[in-house]
Amino acid sequence: MANQHQVKAKKHLGQHFLEDESIAQDIANSLSLEGYKDVLEIGPGMGVLTKYLLKKDTTTHVIEIDTESVDYLKNNYLNLADRIIEKDFLKYDLNLVFKDKPFAIIGNFPYNISSQILFKTLELRHQIPEFSGMFQKEVALRICSKEGSKVYGILSVLTQAFYNADYLFTVPPTVFNPPPKVDSGVLLLKRKENYTLPCDEKLFFRVVKTGFQQRRKTLRNSLKTFNLSDNLKANTIFGQRPEQLSVSQFIELTSLIENDIN
Ligand code: SAH
Repeated sequence: MANQHQVKAKKHLGQHFLEDESIAQDIANSLSLEGYKDVLEIGPGMGVLTKYLLKKDTTTHVIEIDTESVDYLKNNYLNLADRIIEKDFLKYDLNLVFKDKPFAIIGNFPYNISSQILFKTLELRHQIPEFSGMFQKEVALRICSKEGSKVYGILSVLTQAFYNADYLFTVPPTVFNPPPKVDSGVLLLKRKENYTLPCDEKLFFRVVKTGFQQRRKTLRNSLKTFNLSDNLKANTIFGQRPEQLSVSQFIELTSLIENDIN
């Protein structure tokens, strides 16, 4: 039971506290816990998810930027005390804690940093087999979307190159305090068995990001900065727009570019 007053929600930290216990439990239960021992929760707040994670056969670590929330957690979850990292997730070097060990990421974290959280996860993909997170519904759907969809973009391609993305369920604003303005969606990412790409991975990120910078243009136009040979640009793939290419076609495109510029 709480032995301290509740944390006052701070807007600049994107604090919307989840108050529905069964949703909290469903999110905590979404991780398979297979093949790793450690879990990192981002933005635990008052620990609504944390308490369910602590019941599991896993080592739960939390990273929280808000001192008031950290104090609350220290007072209410005594066995968590030495696994609370009071830092900004986006700036913290996670290998100070995890060394090279695998760990899963979970959290109901602020909408305004959710894409950056995902990008950091993708950078650390070699260590992160699973990720379960609450996003703005629209962003969660975008991440899972397939080629041909209007919302298919950079985050969809980069995420799905390495992870299978599953939209689990929608969460209405009413279960948060204070309620956000939009629906939320919980997304589960499971790393693919074979997540090493058969092309230069850095170049793949550049091709996808540059390709989508002008999504209405053909790749021939939007990839001009790569100074590709006329011969390569005659390939029909360059006549397509980025939103028409599947993840595997983006990989194929990267291999073609890699051969051309080397
Ligand atoms: N998970 C809790 C809190 C959600 S509010 C719940 O579901 O009730 C989002 C939480 O993320 C807040 O506690 C906020 O302080 C924290 N937070 C915001 N920015 C952060 C950052 N950069 N790094 C770590 N935590 C952050």
